[in-house]
Amino acid sequence: MTNPVYLDNNATTRTDPEVVQAMLPFFTEQFGNASSMHAFGAEVGSALATARKQLQALLGAAFDHEIVYMSSGTEADNSAILSALETQAGRDEIVTSAVEHPAVLSMVAHLEKTRGVTVHVIGVDARGRLDMDAYAKALGPKTAIVSIMWANNETGTIFPVERLAHLAHEAGALFHTDAVQAVGKIPMNLAESEIDMLSLSGHKLHGPKGIGALYVRKGVRFRPLVRGGHQERGRRAGTENAPGIIGLGKAAELALAHMADEQTRVAALRDRLEQGLLQRIGNSFVTGDTENRLPNTANVAFEYIEGEAILLLMNRDGIAASSGSACTSGSLEPSHVLRAMNVPYTAAHGAIRFSFSRENSDADVDRVLEAMPPIIERLREMSPFWRERDVRTAEFKPSYA
Ligand SMILES: *Cc1c(COP(=O)(O)O)cnc(C)c1O
Repeated sequence: MTNPVYLDNNATTRTDPEVVQAMLPFFTEQFGNASSMHAFGAEVGSALATARKQLQALLGAAFDHEIVYMSSGTEADNSAILSALETQAGRDEIVTSAVEHPAVLSMVAHLEKTRGVTVHVIGVDARGRLDMDAYAKALGPKTAIVSIMWANNETGTIFPVERLAHLAHEAGALFHTDAVQAVGKIPMNLAESEIDMLSLSGHKLHGPKGIGALYVRKGVRFRPLVRGGHQERGRRAGTENAPGIIGLGKAAELALAHMADEQTRVAALRDRLEQGLLQRIGNSFVTGDTENRLPNTANVAFEYIEGEAILLLMNRDGIAASSGSACTSGSLEPSHVLRAMNVPYTAAHGAIRFSFSRENSDADVDRVLEAMPPIIERLREMSPFWRERDVRTAEFKPSYA
């Protein structure tokens, strides 16, 4: 394949070569267990301490011991919610949004079914913005925890987490945010924040897979999900994933160093792609809150065709992205995020997410702008919905045009 173009960085990123270099010694010479009382352990222990400082700096956290390393963003999300139900005496309600990652949504659905927990799922408007009135109404003396993401993985829409945290606190609830897509992409200063817990994941910021962390603000009580040894101050048992933690530290250092420049450079690439696609291809539009969005994410809906088919043809041209639909039980269902936004069915089916990283270039955008129009045209020629579009357009277009 000549020069593949990777625009699926919200699914995962390439581990930065500098991150790999930083990790390698901890598979070979420095293989010790950080808890051991000898030089092998001590060497690893001090490298872990450095890595923790690097991640603390990216988060702007006040204390490095507010970071609890875990296996993934998923484990961090699960742990935060389960902990709150145990520490918040007399409170058994959860408030979350309809557009969360399955790491939150499937856990709260499970708790609702098995523990009789009441879950308030707050909706979003057509641009993906949270219904603030419904949010305020859902909070109350029974709310144990709010879990609402910092930025959405499919549309990039950013939620007003500080405001949400403040309102949660007024109701006496804890506030957790899934910041897996936000960490490393936008600045953070948790020392000045009301956020109690925050989830992140290494592989979404050019770090390794299989390492994540939960930030737990000092003073917030925490009950571990995984029990055993005393690692992570007793908050997450299991021998530390030293290469993973050290790789995540390096990834955090690189993200912080690049952030100021990359935020604007990547947003410019994204905007050029979006505008170019909309100019070249009719019956297409951008979903999500374009005024409040991650710099790297574009979600473009191409009406009357299937996202899976688009991806297949893009893949033939060496372009990787992802679609807003997932093949569940044989039928192509639009994603829960686009459905929550009420994106018309025929458009949600043809939604493609392009997600950039600091490794993308202008040449990538040129390639995609050249490849997409013939792909869309070809698929529309075969689409019965496209042939009938004149009847449907008036009904489908207005709120998105
Ligand atoms: C990827 C992702 C996760 C899961 O992180 P893993 O480390 O892959 O488990 C959770 N939330 C969001 C928003 C994500 O994008």
